[in-house]
Amino acid sequence: MKIVMKFGGVSIADGDGLRRVGTIVKKFHKDGHKLVIVTSAMHNMTDSLSEIAKRASRGDKKAVHDFRDAVQARHKKAAEAAIMDEHVLTRTIASMDARVDELNNILLGIAHIGELTPRSKDFVIGYGEKLSAPLVQGVLEDLGITSKALTGGEAGIVTDDRFGDAAPLMNVTTHQVRQALDPLLEEGIVPVISGFIASTQEGVQTTLGRGGSDYTASIIGAAIKADEVWAWKDVDGLMTANPKIVKSAKMIQEISFAEAMELAHFGAEVVHPKALECAAKYLRPFRVKSLHDPEGKGTIIQSEVKVKAGNVVKAITNINDVSLITVSGASMVGTPRLAAKVLQILTDEDIDVLMISQSSSEESITLAIPKASGANAQNALELSLLGSKQVREVAIEDGLSIVAVVGAGMKGTPGVAARVFGTMAGNEVNIRAIAQGSSELNISFIIKKVDAKKAVEALHADFKLGE
Ligand code: ASP
Ligand code: MG
Repeated sequence: MKIVMKFGGVSIADGDGLRRVGTIVKKFHKDGHKLVIVTSAMHNMTDSLSEIAKRASRGDKKAVHDFRDAVQARHKKAAEAAIMDEHVLTRTIASMDARVDELNNILLGIAHIGELTPRSKDFVIGYGEKLSAPLVQGVLEDLGITSKALTGGEAGIVTDDRFGDAAPLMNVTTHQVRQALDPLLEEGIVPVISGFIASTQEGVQTTLGRGGSDYTASIIGAAIKADEVWAWKDVDGLMTANPKIVKSAKMIQEISFAEAMELAHFGAEVVHPKALECAAKYLRPFRVKSLHDPEGKGTIIQSEVKVKAGNVVKAITNINDVSLITVSGASMVGTPRLAAKVLQILTDEDIDVLMISQSSSEESITLAIPKASGANAQNALELSLLGSKQVREVAIEDGLSIVAVVGAGMKGTPGVAARVFGTMAGNEVNIRAIAQGSSELNISFIIKKVDAKKAVEALHADFKLGE
C-alpha cells in the first residue's frame, strides 16, 4: 500500500517519542509499504515561535538570543537521545543548527525593524516543522531507512497568499508533489515532509492554519493517490464519547467523513476538520491510529459507511464552557439580514459560532459560542446593533454545555429526537436550546454545564454505545 503517515507534536516531543516513531515507520516500511511521512513541530514549538515573534517585534533582542539557545538545546538533546550512530547524529545536528541560525537572523531582523507582518510571522512559525523534519529523517536513517527531509514547499505544496490560513492550489500542487515524491518513492526513499508549511507560487513560505499538519497529510495523500492517510495519535481512535466522561466509551471502528466532521465540530477534534474535508473530497480513506497500539486498526474514516440496523447513533459529544448569546427585539421579524449581520459581526471578531437557533416567531436569535469569547461577542454586538431600532437587547448566559448526538443512521429514522429528549426528561435535564442540522447527522442542544456528565452518560447508555 501507499500510505501517508502523519506524526503530531506530542509523538515527537522527546527522544523516547522519536524512537517510537522510528520503530513504527520501520515496521511498516519492512512490511513493504510505500511510505511518506508528515511531521508536526515538536510539542509547543509553534506556540513559542509565535510568542517570540511578538517579542522580537517589540525589539527584545535578549529574548531572541535566549530563545535561540533553548531551541537549539532542545532539538540537540532529542537527537542525542534518539540517534545512536555518530555520523548520522552529527549530520542531523548540523542541518538543524543551520536552520536555527537562519531563524535567529530572521528574528533579529524583525527586532531591528520592529514590525511583524503576517508574511514574516508565517515565516517564523514554520520553523518548528523546518527543524523537526531533519530530526525525524535522522532518526529514520539511524534505523537504516534511507529518507529525505523536505519542507512543504519543497514537497510541492503551493498555496494562495493568505498568510496564516493559506489554501492549497490543488492542480499545481498535485502536479508538483508527484514530481517531487514519485522518484523518491520509486527508489524506496522515505520522504519526511514538514507539515503545516507550504509556499506561494513565488516561493514565499505560508502556513495552512494552526493544527494544519493533518491537512498537509491529506493534501499529500490526495496528490499521490495514497491508499490511505494515517494520523498517529495519542488516543485509540475516535470514541463513542469522551472516555474521561463515560467509562464505557468505546473506539469507533468505522465512520463516515460527514459524521467525523460533525464530531470534530462538537468538541471531539481528534483530526483537523480541513484534513477530513480534503480527504473526503479526494476520496482518500483517513485512518486514526494509536501510537500505543501500532498493530491495531484504529478508526477508519471514509466516504461510504453502511449503517448497521439499530446502529442509528454513532457517538455523543459535548463541549463544555459554552455561552449563549441572545439577540432580541420585537421588530426583528422578517429581517433576515439581521441574522446575517449578527454572524458577520462574530466572524469579524474571529468568534467560533457553535450553534444557531432562531425561534419561528423571529423575535430572537440565539447563538452558542465558546465562553472565552463571550464578553468580546457581547461588546461587538452591542456596539454595532443597539440603537439600530431592530434590536432591543443582547443578552448573555454562561455555565452551559452543548451536547450533540451524531450518526448518519438518524437520517430518515423517526423517533430519534423523541428518544433523546425523552432520556433527558427522564434524567431531569432541562434543555435551553435545540438545533438539528438539515443533514440530519446530528441533534445538538444546550444544557446547564452541571448536567453535562449525567446527560452524556445517559444518552451513551440509552443508545447502547458501550456494548
Ligand atoms: N505545529 C502546528 C501547530 O501547532 C501544526 C500542527 O501541529 O498540526 O499548529
Ligand atoms: Mg494537531
